[in-house]
Amino acid sequence: MCGIIGYIGKDNTVEVLLNGLYALEYRGYDSSGVAINIDNKISVIRSVGRVSKLEEEIKKLNIKDSIYGIAHTRWATNGEANINNAHPHKVGKVTLVHNGIIENANVLKRNLIKEGYQFNSDTDSEVIAAFLDYSLRDNSILDSIELLKRKLVGSYALGIIIDGSDELYALRKDSPLLIGIGNKGNFLASDITAIIKYTSDYILLDVGDVAILKNDSYEVYKENKKINKEILKSTSSNISNDKNGYSHHMLKEIMDEPQVISNLLDRYSNSDSWKELDLSEYKSIDIVACGSAMYAGLVGQVLLEEYAEIKTNVYAASEYRYKKKIYNDKTLVILISQSGETADTIAAMREVKKLGIDTLAIVNNSNSTIAREVDRKILTEAGVEIAVATTKAYVLQVCVLSLISYVTSYKKGLLKDKISYNDFYKLPDLVDLVIKNVDNYKEVISILSKSESCFFIGRGIDYAICMEGSLKLKEVSYIHSEAYQAGELKHGTISLIEKDIPVVAVITDKNLKEKTLSNLGEVESRGAKGIVITTEGLDDNDEHLKIVIKSTNRFLDSILVVCVLQLIAYYVALDRGCDIDKPRNLAKSVTVE
Ligand code: GLU
Repeated sequence: MCGIIGYIGKDNTVEVLLNGLYALEYRGYDSSGVAINIDNKISVIRSVGRVSKLEEEIKKLNIKDSIYGIAHTRWATNGEANINNAHPHKVGKVTLVHNGIIENANVLKRNLIKEGYQFNSDTDSEVIAAFLDYSLRDNSILDSIELLKRKLVGSYALGIIIDGSDELYALRKDSPLLIGIGNKGNFLASDITAIIKYTSDYILLDVGDVAILKNDSYEVYKENKKINKEILKSTSSNISNDKNGYSHHMLKEIMDEPQVISNLLDRYSNSDSWKELDLSEYKSIDIVACGSAMYAGLVGQVLLEEYAEIKTNVYAASEYRYKKKIYNDKTLVILISQSGETADTIAAMREVKKLGIDTLAIVNNSNSTIAREVDRKILTEAGVEIAVATTKAYVLQVCVLSLISYVTSYKKGLLKDKISYNDFYKLPDLVDLVIKNVDNYKEVISILSKSESCFFIGRGIDYAICMEGSLKLKEVSYIHSEAYQAGELKHGTISLIEKDIPVVAVITDKNLKEKTLSNLGEVESRGAKGIVITTEGLDDNDEHLKIVIKSTNRFLDSILVVCVLQLIAYYVALDRGCDIDKPRNLAKSVTVE
């Protein structure tokens, strides 16, 4: 959420900053801005909306070059998305970009107003700039930054320029920030995608670190003492912002699914590697996550209980943090996050670790906070996901949970169905088939894209799939959509059913097929347009509009249905002319609570 980039060096600064902002735009796109040094004066250029608008503004100014600069793409938390609230913020000698939320900003602001400061924005970020400027009256830069760190309550990643000093400053707490070390200069960035074009060498800043960047050197301090930090190398093969010829990242990322699933299966093809997946020592599991990752957890809950016979609960991380936690002597907490920077999931993880409970993360970004702090982790290795609405990363989270359930069930001697690991290898080709059969979904796509509201219903694992399918549709197409346990609809929500409203029933569980079809009948009797998504063998009901997919086994069918639902959401959004890769109000990597 919110992207930060800074550069000091010999390359064209404006170009580096704009390239960085384009790469970071998926993290927020309410407004963007740069602060650059032109003729020894800091100029701030900002614009509401997309980075392309900022680029137009900058082009008009015909800037030759700047020796350093910082830039930001915002996802507003404090103050609406207007030009005054756009970053960078300049107060006195201090210009800065901020990712995060300062919880005591109002108190600080009141005190600073008493000291004569005036504020031009509603942001908490401008308060940081004012406080730092105030501290600089009596203190050195490093001492002022230390004072700032002590004063701020909340989360922040900061890129700072101070008038009169030809250096960039960077520090963080909870929000992510790294520094990049290049041949022609140094960088600061929210994530490596922003600078991979220029360098693959980087240092992860830890909480409390303060980095000072010059064009040919850098220093990192902790509590005013210089420290050495390990330089990491990014494997750039994994990082591509390219759409590969597809019209949108979302479509490209759905197309990646067969390959990334296949890679995951290869990693666990040797049963020695199953140790990582074996949870047979645990008696209960809490799955903690947000959004789609939580819905992946719901699929995992059904499989873990059914196959591994481990009691499993799923919680939203934002709730889990504050709830009374009841553990037994063998509880595992599984944290799921694509970015590994989801603020609520990080906070939940830290709480759980403090209580001495084992933690396991299913995470995509191997250098993220969650990946570094958790006890053990399973990387999904989906590659970079640029579209804000997750597709391939979600699918891999479900695949990991399927593999965990399978292996744990096998190790406990509980696996009754004759499913071998080789059966999992059918999945990439079947996903490919689902993608190729998109013409079969056209009628459903056309019905949904003309509707303003719809429902998804299912039972058991099918309900878990409905949650994700419904979320995907509303995220990208803005159609109001709700997912319900099929039997629950009549306990209130059925009052919303009116003529021609589409109700999509997902049926992959043969034991629950008739029940779900009855529930569909209940809404059809009240005028709803019933649609069934089901597997071969369960499709003997002719009265509905149907999408039928090839059936495999219970571990895999849900993944295939989800791929269908992702494609439907994509094409409905396309029909409706929506901004598919950057839906309104959203941002990827939710780094605020
Ligand atoms: N709290 C700051 C603002 O609303 C930063 C938000 C962000 O992380 O994008 O401007």
